[in-house]
Parts: sequence; structure tokens; C-alpha cells
Amino acid sequence: MSKIKTLEALEILDSRGNPTIQVSVHLQSGATGTAKIPSGASTGKHEAVELRDGDKRYGGKGVRKAISNVLGEIQQAVVGFDGDQPSLDRKLIALDGTPNKARLGANAILGVSLGFSKACAAEKRVPLYRHFTERATYLLPVPMFNVLNGGAHADNNVDFQEFMIAPVGAPSFAEALRAASETFQALKASLRVKGYETSVGDEGGFAPRLKSNEEPMELLLEAIERAGYKPGTDIAINLDPAASEFYEGGAYVFRKSDRSSKTTTELIALWDEWLQRYPPIYSLEDGLAEDDWPGWREATKKLGNRVQFMGDDIFVTNPQILQKGIDQGIANSVLIKLNQIGTVTETFECIDLAHRNGYTAVVSHRSGETDDTTIADLTVAAGTGQIKSGSVCRGERVAKYNRLVEIEQELGEAGQYVGRKAYARWRPN
Ligand code: PGA
Ligand code: ZN
Repeated sequence: MSKIKTLEALEILDSRGNPTIQVSVHLQSGATGTAKIPSGASTGKHEAVELRDGDKRYGGKGVRKAISNVLGEIQQAVVGFDGDQPSLDRKLIALDGTPNKARLGANAILGVSLGFSKACAAEKRVPLYRHFTERATYLLPVPMFNVLNGGAHADNNVDFQEFMIAPVGAPSFAEALRAASETFQALKASLRVKGYETSVGDEGGFAPRLKSNEEPMELLLEAIERAGYKPGTDIAINLDPAASEFYEGGAYVFRKSDRSSKTTTELIALWDEWLQRYPPIYSLEDGLAEDDWPGWREATKKLGNRVQFMGDDIFVTNPQILQKGIDQGIANSVLIKLNQIGTVTETFECIDLAHRNGYTAVVSHRSGETDDTTIADLTVAAGTGQIKSGSVCRGERVAKYNRLVEIEQELGEAGQYVGRKAYARWRPN
């Protein structure tokens, strides 16, 4: 690659109307890569630090400090750099010098890391997924569409954050998108008939005032059938209750629905009951809180051979924490978010570590997003076979899915939709 010539950084807005950072990396060849960094709302405690200004502007959420770190210290360190991605990322990590990128900001660092990936792809004149990994054939992922929202993502009375549909039976990614859209429209129609609101939450899912935490399950099953699909066979249901959000003083407290509370053992029993009552549930993310490691161990023993049991807040895309989880028999899958760890290289390391240990990995957006479509390419390059990018509406969500339609078309015979095989470990047939 040619040398890094200059960096540029801007304060832009994310999909929630909060500021975030955009970084452009210019190479001496004239090639440029621009990355826009997302931002979470139900964040894990051990995520890499998103540097915010904490002053009057934007209620403290401004990113001018992160920008000046990019234009100042980081630029000084990387201008003239002509190595590869791992050596750039190692340089950025060393320059920051903290274990969680708190000094320069994970948002600043990821902007440069990812901007560099994109600039290299541009210089090579190849699509980003091909720059990440050159292979003869690629996998197109099963998408998880978050169509009903609760928890920290919606002002309603559902404690659980995400109720998702995954079209496992579709023959292609494009057909999976169609099945999800048809189900989404059927869901909208039945919400209307029942007199529920059809406005959408942060990730494009509906967020009506439902009667209980379980009603979304019934609504989803009904919508899948109304759209002409078979729950489980054609379309699986995936859950992310984001349990860290309702874990208080060692108990799980349902503040939004019925104000009841559950012990760890009772919550695991609830998931067990749901898995029996609703066989279309293929994946359960953050079913326990990030601080409840004993609970995770118990739950993995009990449920891990029946469901993809995925850690988001507990692992925060951190290879060291994931390794600790693997050693302790916690979960069997990891959610992957670039900005939880803060560099492209560590993100790939985390996916590799998962795969080497028989864990699945699912690449994910954040609830605060932009039109940046990197995660689509990252998913295809890493061959994770699964992606989570919100609902089938809102531009910043569908941008990633539309990019996958494009990639599928471009790959032709060299691309294969994973379908049910993504869950083969738990659903062999
Ligand atoms: P976040 O939530 O982006 O708000 O952290 C997404 C998730 O919990 O998966
Ligand atoms: Zn999550």
C-alpha cells in the first residue's frame, strides 16, 4: 500500500440525532477511505471508551476531543505509515496506552483503523469484503431483523429489548429480505387491527404498549403465519432481552411490564419454559446480565445444547474476556461490534477466537447508527454466517441489508446463503 498522507475528521450525527465521528484516511496514491462510527445505548460496562466532550455542546455528547486526537496526536504518529492493518492497529493501541482506549477514544481510534481498511480497499480497487479476506467463495449471512422493540430502545412496557425474525428457510439473502419485509408488513397490519401504535423504535422495530413481556412472541408467530411462512421452518425467532439493563442488586427486576422480580434461577427457568413453549426460538442473546457470571454458567449448562446462547454485554467483543468465558463454559456464541473493542484487527481476532472454539459469531450494528455499511462487508469477509442490523425499515438499518443484496448479486455463484446451517449445531435437521 502507499503511505498514509493525511487524516480528516468531522463531527456528524447518528440516527438518534447525537454527534459521532467521521474519519477519512487519505493515502499518497490519492485513495481515500471514510468511516462513520456508531454508538450504543444499552452498552456493556467493559466496552472500549467512546470519548465524549462532556461540555455544554450537544448535552456533553460532542466529539471535538476525539476529533482533535485524530487530527493531532494520531495524525502525527501515522503520517508516512505504509504497513498493514495489524501493524497500524497495534500502533494505535500502543499510542493510546490504556487497556480500554480511554485516552484517545475508541471512536477516534476505530475511525482511523476502519478508514484505513477502506482506503486500502479503494487503492486495490476491490470491494471491502475482498480486501478483508480474499477467497474463492463467500457466505451470505442469515439476517436477524429486530421487528419488535422494548427495553432501553423504546418507551413502552416491554422489559425485553429485541424480538427478532431470522428467515432461515430462504433460498438466498434477497429472498430472506423479502420474507422479513412481508412479515414486518403483516405485523404492522395486525398491530393496527388490535389498536396498537405502529411507530418504530431506534432500530426500526415497532414499539407498541403491549400487555406483557410475552405478547411480542404471540404477535410475531401470528405475523409470520399471516405472511405465509412457517415459524421455525421458514423464519426463526431470536431474542435479545439485554438482561444487564434490568439486573439490579443481584435480581432481575421487570420495571416496565408487571413490576415483578426474578432470581437468576427463576429467569433461567423462564427461558427454559420459553424454549419449550416456542420451538422457533433459535438464538438467545444476553439472557443473563454481564455481571452474573455464575448465572451464565448455569444457563449455558441448562440451555446451551438447545439454543444459540450469545454473549454481547458480557464479552464486549474483547478477545481476552471471550477467552475467559470460553474457559469457564459460558455461552456458545458471541456478538461482534467493532466499536466495543475499537480496532479492525481485534474485531477479527475475536471472531477467529470464537470460531476456533466452536462458538458462533454474529456481527452487529449499534442502536445509534449511520449510513456506513462496513458490517455487511465484515460479515461476508469473516464468514460468520449471521448478521444483526435492526429492522427492515429506517435508512441506516436497511443500508447494511441493501449492501448485502449488492454483494450477493456481485458474487453470483461464488456466494452462498447460509440459511438453517447457521444453526446446525442446535437444529441438525
Ligand atoms: P446497543 O444495543 O447498540 O444499544 O448497545 C444493541 C444490543 O444490545 O445488541
Ligand atoms: Zn445485545
